[in-house]
Amino acid sequence: MNLILLSPDDIGADHYARITDTRRLKHLLEVHRASAGENFSVGIQGGNMGKAELVELSSEQAVFSLNSLEELPPPPLPVHLVLALPRPRMLARTLEHVTTLGVKEITLLHTKRVEKSYWQSPELRPEKIYQHLILGLEQAKDTLLPTVHLRKGFRPFIEEQLPALLAKGRGLLAHPGMPHACPRGISDKTLLLVGPEGGFIDWEVEQLLTAGCEGMHLGPRILRVETAVTALLSRLF
Ligand code: SAM
Repeated sequence: MNLILLSPDDIGADHYARITDTRRLKHLLEVHRASAGENFSVGIQGGNMGKAELVELSSEQAVFSLNSLEELPPPPLPVHLVLALPRPRMLARTLEHVTTLGVKEITLLHTKRVEKSYWQSPELRPEKIYQHLILGLEQAKDTLLPTVHLRKGFRPFIEEQLPALLAKGRGLLAHPGMPHACPRGISDKTLLLVGPEGGFIDWEVEQLLTAGCEGMHLGPRILRVETAVTALLSRLF
């Protein structure tokens, strides 16, 4: 927790923020070994960041005095990540990593090799997704929550959503064996598509390329989804 991320519910009209949940309190007490009088990096969800003084700390609550928070959150990456839904544990880690790296638009997509049961996972409940996004923001020192869309049909996605998404920017399909290498250091608005653990099937690759995506590879090594996403984002941006 490099940033104490405050939700509007934490902040009173008196310009004091009160934290009462066990996770953040425990972190302040046990990891930061905080005491009243110290200054901490805080940020308001969707807003600015800065230093705030901890004026009270007990096992029940931490109270911060909020003066002017003038720092802006770091710039987002110009990318919309379309990720074939990975297994629940991988999803949790991937959501955290990509949020830390600055992705603000995420679509979780069904493809042929996504296990249907993954869509029933508790990890997809809004409160669980929110938890992972918050952890990613706290890690990065960022306040802007990503938006997560769930798309449970590949064909409807291709027909109904993909054209509009591609009209906004360049579509890059990460798929081993494609003739071109992943570009480096771009600043274009990008739609980045990453496949499931078993990869995209040939028909899906064909549909995505026909729709206007550019296929690209990351070399001969086949990376796990969470590694591939991190490597792709680092190399692209
Ligand atoms: N056997 C699968 C295949 O060949 O497509 C492997 C899938 S990989 C575990 C999961 C996803 O990560 C892939 O669908 C792709 O989007 C991305 N990925 C992993 N390694 C890659 C590489 N070397 N080049 C491009 N994409 C890669």
